[in-house]
Amino acid sequence: MTASIPGLVLHKDAALRQRAAHVIPGGMWGHMRAAAVPAGYPQFFAGGYGAIVTDVDGNDYIDFMCSWGPIILGHNRPEVDAAARAAMDAGDILNGPSEHAVELAELMVDTVAHADWALFQKNGSDAMTTCVTLARAGTGRRKVLVARGAYHGAVPWCSPSVLGVTAEDRAHLDYFDYNDAASLEAAVEKAGDDLAAIVVSSFRHDLGKRQELPAPDFAAAARRLATGRDAALILDDVRAGFRLNLAGSWEGVGIRPDLTAFSKAIANGYALAAVTGNERFRMAGAEAFFTGSFWYGAASMAAAVKTIDILKREDGPARINAAGIRFRDGLIAAGARNGYTVDMSGPPAMPMMQIAGDTDHRMAEALCQAALARGVYLHHKHNMFLSLAHDDAVIDRALAAIDDAFATLARDGLAIA
Ligand code: PMP
Repeated sequence: MTASIPGLVLHKDAALRQRAAHVIPGGMWGHMRAAAVPAGYPQFFAGGYGAIVTDVDGNDYIDFMCSWGPIILGHNRPEVDAAARAAMDAGDILNGPSEHAVELAELMVDTVAHADWALFQKNGSDAMTTCVTLARAGTGRRKVLVARGAYHGAVPWCSPSVLGVTAEDRAHLDYFDYNDAASLEAAVEKAGDDLAAIVVSSFRHDLGKRQELPAPDFAAAARRLATGRDAALILDDVRAGFRLNLAGSWEGVGIRPDLTAFSKAIANGYALAAVTGNERFRMAGAEAFFTGSFWYGAASMAAAVKTIDILKREDGPARINAAGIRFRDGLIAAGARNGYTVDMSGPPAMPMMQIAGDTDHRMAEALCQAALARGVYLHHKHNMFLSLAHDDAVIDRALAAIDDAFATLARDGLAIA
């Protein structure tokens, strides 16, 4: 029997979980298994529109996870769906790419500040792996430096799990601490003349930890050290790309990478990833071999062109930032009214919620459960995501429910039954 949240009916979800338990190892895989969200949350979903997501039992929630990042304009944005549908109707997977591949590459080069070219894949892990391969191909070297605790995907070279991973898969990886220029410098020294790449996340967004924006001195050191060794500076913009700054997430600190990985929000939920690069790595991009049967699909590329057009037209990042500030400040105030000190770290568009004294996230989990029963979908230890569909009215409706959830928490303690 799974835990249930009082006031929430999840019959169909429970039946699907039972069936899944027989035919899907562990009942579900990866970051979308129920164990990754508060106990009692629905596992299965049926639809979404705007800022609302609907589970298989027909419960609607104001959504602050945005499908863990991909939804940036709101669920099922009609213009994007129409563009994708037209491409799908014409033929998604053919004997070669469609014209949308060129159109999208041109748009990426126009939009992303460091980009002289683009290549496309499907998932963030594909894009990050492509970046690492490009860096090694372009430098003829092996060592790749990554920040301890940073997430870059679920393939052996970078998976957070060690199960099924050999030491050889990570033989040429070494580690530094994010925002610690001295530790990066030491790792660069150690790599010596075998340094292929320094990999940085857009900001520090490790699971369950306070988020940190990149410190300007750290970002500058990463650029200086990579340039000094003629190695690649790789920006993993998979999670944050297009949400913070259309030109790239490190534009704010004035640092341009050599290679950037994008995915998640690039096509408002259609499966697509991209790597952009500068002239230094164009030859490697032409000569090394990158491919996948579905990496040329027209529909997701048409969706991406439309998504980026809308983000430009509607001043997407600035408006999502403003929505995030309203949500952040309102949530902190709701906590304070009920006796809780809430910390909302990271960029407002991608906030991480933590409650003072809640080291094991149990209070945050109980708050999320109480909010869910009131129609608001939050996360207790992963950063959340806002979108262009989060207008003032939606946020205020969510905040009223969250205030009530805090009040319940203050009165009754942990909500789960
Ligand atoms: N890098 C970052 C920063 C991510 O957040 C993710 C996905 N959460 C990935 C890479 C991997 O992307 P995907 O799950 O699409 O393979």
